[in-house]
This record gives sequence, C-alpha cells and structure tokens, in this order.
Amino acid sequence: MTNLPNCPKCNSEYTYEMGLLLVCPECAHEWSQTEAEHIMEDVSVKDSNGTTLSDGDSITIIKDLKVKGSSSALKQGTNIKNIRLVDGDHNIECKVDGFGILKLKSEFVKKIG
Ligand SMILES: [Zn+2]
Repeated sequence: MTNLPNCPKCNSEYTYEMGLLLVCPECAHEWSQTEAEHIMEDVSVKDSNGTTLSDGDSITIIKDLKVKGSSSALKQGTNIKNIRLVDGDHNIECKVDGFGILKLKSEFVKKIG
C-alpha cells in the first residue's frame, strides 16, 4: 500500500517519489509533494454556538468573566461591537466600555445579529 496521491494529470496510481517531487511514469508529469499535501489549516474562530466569527462582528458575553487587573467582572449579557480576531488562547480582542482593550476566549461569547 502506498499513500502517494494519484497523478493529477492522468490519474495514474503508479506515481513515485523522486526527492521532493512526485513523478508519474505514465505521462511524465512531475509535481511537488509539499504542494500536493498542502492542507488548508482551519483557523476560523467560532463562538459558543459554533458560529464563525469575523473581524468587526458584534458579540455578547454568555457568562460573567473575571477581568485581569480589574476588580469588576465582565457581566453576562454585555454586548461588544467591532471585535478583532487575534492568535492565541484568547482569540478575540475588543474594546469594552469601562475596561478598555480586553482579550476574550471565543467559547464565552455569542455572535449577535
Ligand atoms: Zn500522469
């Protein structure tokens, strides 16, 4: 059994590896394996309902959240406009009245609208 993909040109299954290339012996097509195996990583950020979030979306907080460096908590039901998606554990950045710029986890929010 081989895991090599079929030839993208003639669909031959007799492809073989030559260095970083894949070669088809039937039509002599050569292509890059890294290209063939390039997988689109799913980097989408989803809210608590599994809805994909985008920059500029409005969200609501679904549970009270402690805010680092603040004595008050971010209350459930707080609406936040114009979020920005960022990399990391806390994947949403947003500006909240009374708190300033906060980073939130998408699992604790719900998209509005
Ligand atoms: Zn071929």
